Amino acid sequence: MCDREGILLIADEIATGFGRTGKLFACEHAEITPDILCLGKALTGGTMTLSATLTTRDVANTISNGEAGCFMHGPTFMGNPLACAVASESLAILDDGEWQTQVAAIEVQLNRELAAARANEQVADVRVLGAIGVVETRQPVNMARLQKYFVEQGVWIRPFGRLIYLMPPYIIRPEQLTRLTDAVKSALNDNTLFSG
Ligand SMILES: *Cc1c(COP(=O)(O)O)cnc(C)c1O
Repeated sequence: MCDREGILLIADEIATGFGRTGKLFACEHAEITPDILCLGKALTGGTMTLSATLTTRDVANTISNGEAGCFMHGPTFMGNPLACAVASESLAILDDGEWQTQVAAIEVQLNRELAAARANEQVADVRVLGAIGVVETRQPVNMARLQKYFVEQGVWIRPFGRLIYLMPPYIIRPEQLTRLTDAVKSALNDNTLFSG
């Protein structure tokens, strides 16, 4: 539809890029090709700050060949050599393709272990795609209390609004992932962790 109407399509794959959803990029699920693709986070395996904006040649030429204007932008730390070296290494690791097996295994385990949460009256929905597991609650979580609760359980899970989500590293071991899903399920049984 964007092509037909001459509108640029931007895909923000900062969180979903590099295999997270089971495809290298989430837009592959929809069989679409964006004009502009935003990348970050997993570009360096999350170890260093680096982001990238990929565009079609047409968009790139429009920006580069146009008058210097609002899109011409040179951040101080742009193309940081250390961050780029880290990204190169991280992309080389992804290149061996093992992430596909790892993400598929995480997806199976998340589905299996989060399924039980569906029966909890606090839960509106459970969704899993690739190495992303989300429990949507009926009430917003009490962020301050829930985060403290998770830390006390020895896990780092950052809830958000009505979403408790897991995006573990692909190298997580099954018993470590179980620890995360157990923490989520036990939190759901404690009403003081939810507001309202
Ligand atoms: C983290 C995130 C951002 C922000 O990326 P920064 O590199 O921190 O600016 C934007 N979009 C999505 C979907 C994200 O997950």
